[in-house]
Amino acid sequence: MVFDTMEEARNYYEEYGRQEGFWIRTRSSSKTRRRLDEVTSRQFVCAHEGKYVPKNTSQKALEENDEKDINEIENMKRTGKNCSTVKCGCKASMRIKLDRWSNKWKVSSFQDSHNHKPVTPERRMKMKSNRVMPKAAKILTETFHEENLPIAKVPSIFGGPHIGFNNRDCYNHLRNVRHRQLDGGDAQSVLTYFRKKQAENPQFFYAIQCDENGRAANFFWVDARSRMAYNYFGDVVTFDTTYRTNKYDMPFAPFTGVNHHLQSIQFGCALLQDETEVTFLWLFETWLEAMGGRHPVSIITDQDLAMKGAIAKIFPNTRHRLCLWHIKKKFAEKLSHVYFKKSKFKIQMKKCIRSTYKIEEFEEKWKELMKECELANDDWLNSLYDIRSSWVPVYNRGIFFAGMNTTGRSEGINSFFDGFVTPTTNLREFVVKYEQALKRIMDRESDEDFESEHKYRIVNEGEFLLKHAAKFYTRNVFNKFKDEWSKVTLYKVEEIPCDDEYHAYLVKTKLGEHEEFVVKLNLQTYKGMCECQNFEFVGILCRHLLKVFVRLDIDTLPDHFILPRWRQEANKFRIMDFKSLVTNDGKEESEALRLSHMCHQATKLACIAASSNEAYTTFIEALNELSKKLSDNSTQHATIPSSTTGDPCSTNIDSSQLLLLDPNISQTKGRKKDNISGSKRLKSGIELAQNKKKRKCALCKKIAQHDKRNCPSNLKRRKNESTNLCQKLMFNLILMNLNLGNEESEDLCQDMESDDQEYC
Ligand SMILES: [Zn+2]
Ligand SMILES: [Zn+2]
Ligand SMILES: [Zn+2]
Repeated sequence: MVFDTMEEARNYYEEYGRQEGFWIRTRSSSKTRRRLDEVTSRQFVCAHEGKYVPKNTSQKALEENDEKDINEIENMKRTGKNCSTVKCGCKASMRIKLDRWSNKWKVSSFQDSHNHKPVTPERRMKMKSNRVMPKAAKILTETFHEENLPIAKVPSIFGGPHIGFNNRDCYNHLRNVRHRQLDGGDAQSVLTYFRKKQAENPQFFYAIQCDENGRAANFFWVDARSRMAYNYFGDVVTFDTTYRTNKYDMPFAPFTGVNHHLQSIQFGCALLQDETEVTFLWLFETWLEAMGGRHPVSIITDQDLAMKGAIAKIFPNTRHRLCLWHIKKKFAEKLSHVYFKKSKFKIQMKKCIRSTYKIEEFEEKWKELMKECELANDDWLNSLYDIRSSWVPVYNRGIFFAGMNTTGRSEGINSFFDGFVTPTTNLREFVVKYEQALKRIMDRESDEDFESEHKYRIVNEGEFLLKHAAKFYTRNVFNKFKDEWSKVTLYKVEEIPCDDEYHAYLVKTKLGEHEEFVVKLNLQTYKGMCECQNFEFVGILCRHLLKVFVRLDIDTLPDHFILPRWRQEANKFRIMDFKSLVTNDGKEESEALRLSHMCHQATKLACIAASSNEAYTTFIEALNELSKKLSDNSTQHATIPSSTTGDPCSTNIDSSQLLLLDPNISQTKGRKKDNISGSKRLKSGIELAQNKKKRKCALCKKIAQHDKRNCPSNLKRRKNESTNLCQKLMFNLILMNLNLGNEESEDLCQDMESDDQEYC
C-alpha cells in the first residue's frame, strides 16, 4: 500500500477500523537525524494497545514515548479516579515509512490480530472514530442556548441514541464556542460584539469608558430601534440600577420608557463600575448624545444623592422625581412603631399622599397627621417633608409622567433577567441576553400592534365621545379612557362664575363623599383644564372634563386632547415599508432605514455571490457599474475602493490596536460615594484618542473639536459620510465573504468600523 500523505494513511486505517469494529490511535513517530522535525515513520495502533499506567507514574511512563497521549493525562487529571481503561495490550497496528525515492508513504508492517472482541455493528456509533457532531447540530445547539431551551434535547432532534454525538458533546461544543468568544478577554469580546452590531446597523450606538490602565469601567449601548422609539416616546424615562446581574457585580442601569400600548420599552442601558456622581455624569452625557440631545420631560429614579446631582447637571429642565414605592417601603422600616400599630396612620398617610389635589390641602393634612400621631419631631419624616416636592404626587401632577409614580417599569426589565442571568454571567453573555430582552419587547409590541389595529372596540350607539376616541387610541389606552368615561354618570355639573376667557364648572360626585373639582373650558378653542390634572399627568382626559363635554353636547374630542404618543399610529416609523422609505423623504430616520435596508439586501446578494468565482465577478462588475451610475446622479464622488479587486489581505492592518481589559469587580453601593470629590474623572477611550486642540467652528459657532469642513451640522458632509459608510460596509462584506475564517480581514473590518464611531 502506498499513500501520498500521512493523513491519508491515518484516514485509511481509521476507516478500516470503523468497518472491523475497533478504533485507532497514533502511537509513535520517528524523526530523521539529519533534519529536525521531519517525520519519517509513524505507527498507528488499535486503541486497546498498551497497558494502563496508574496516575502518579503516568507522566514518567508517557515521557518515554515520542508522542504523548495528552488527552489521556488530561482525562485522568479531570476525573481524579479512573476505574476503567480501554488498554489491554492489543498488538494490532500499522506502521508507515517515508520512501525517500518516491516521496510517498509505504506500509512497512501490519498486524491484524486483536486480543479482544470487536465492537458489534450496532454499537459502532459509540466508537470514538465515529463520534462526529454535524455542523447543523452545532448550530442548533447554539440556537437552543441563545433561546434558553434545554440543550440536552438536541441529540433527540437528530434521531435519538443511534447518532454520532450525545448531549455531552453539545455541552462541550458550547464550551468551545464560549472560549473562542472570550479570546482576548470578556471586555474585548463585548467590544467586538458591539462593533459587529454597528456594522449591521450604523445606528447602533455604544460607548465604553476606560480607566488609565485600559481597563473597561463603564459600558453603554443602545440599538437603532430604541433610539428611534425615543423620538416618539422619550418624554418620560424611568431609571434604576440593580446588582448581581454579572460576575463583575457591575450595577445594571437600564433606561426604561413607555410606548403607546402602555408597555415598557427600552432606551438603552449601561453596566457601570460604581454609582458615583462622576459615573452618572458620564452615563447621562453619553445617553443624551445617543438620543440626539433631546431631554426627557420627566424622569423617575430611586432616592440617590449621586444620581440626583448628575441629573440636575445634565438635565436641568427635566422634572426629576423619586419613586413613590421605594419611599413608601421605607415607611414600614423607619416608622415601625406606628406603622404596624392598630391605628389610622397607614390609611391616613395613604390618603394624604395619594388623594390630595391641592398643595395646601396636602400640607394641612400632613401637619394634622403629624400632630395626631405625635411624629412632629421625627427627623426622618421631617427630612422627607423637606423634599416633598420631589415625591408627593400633588407637586407633580402638572407634569407629564404617563401616569407613573414609581420606577416599577425599570424593575420589570430586571425581572426579565431573573431566570437566566446569574452572578457568574460574563459581560458578553449579559449583552446577548439583553438583546433577547429587547427582541421580546419588540415582539410584544408588534403583537399588540396587530391586536390593536385589527380588532375593533365595542362601543354603544349613543356614546359619541367614546366612539370618537376609539378611532384614535390604541386598545390599551382606549381602555383607560373608557374607565374614565364610565364614571361620567356619577357626577353632576353646575356652572360657576369666572373671568371672560374661560367658563368654569364645578363637577361634584353624586356619591356621598366630598369630592369636587373645578373645570375651566374656553368655548371657542375648547382649550381647558381640570383641577385633578389627569390630562397633564397621564395624557388622558379626566371624567370631570368629559362630564362637562357631555353637558355641552360636544361629541368629538378636541385634537389637542389626543396626545400623538397614545395614538394607534404612534410607532408607524418602525415598519420597514419599502414604499414609505421612498416617499417619506427628508426625515432623518428614513435615511437610516434606507441604509439598513440596503445593507441587508447587499449582504443577502453578497452571500449568494460568494459561492462561486463567476458569481463573484458578476457581483463586482455590477457593483462597479452601479457606483458609476450613482456618482453620475449625485455630485458626490462614489467609487468602490480599488483594493476590492486586488488582494484584500495586502492592506495594512494597524497592529497598534490595544486590547480592552476586563473590568475590576465592582465597588459596592455607597462605598465609594464618600470620596466623590477625591475620585478623579476617568478618561474615556474616545476622549483619550481625541486630544486634538479645540477651536471655534465657523459654521455652528461652537467651540469644538471640528471646523466648518467637518461640522456635524453640515448636511452635505453627513450625506457624504453615509455614502462612504455604506461603501465601507459593502467592502467589509466582500472581504468577509472572500476570507471566511481569515482573521486578518476581520481585524481590518474592525479597524474601519472604529473610524465610523464618531459619525454615529
Ligand atoms: Zn485491538
Ligand atoms: Zn378632572
Ligand atoms: Zn460646527
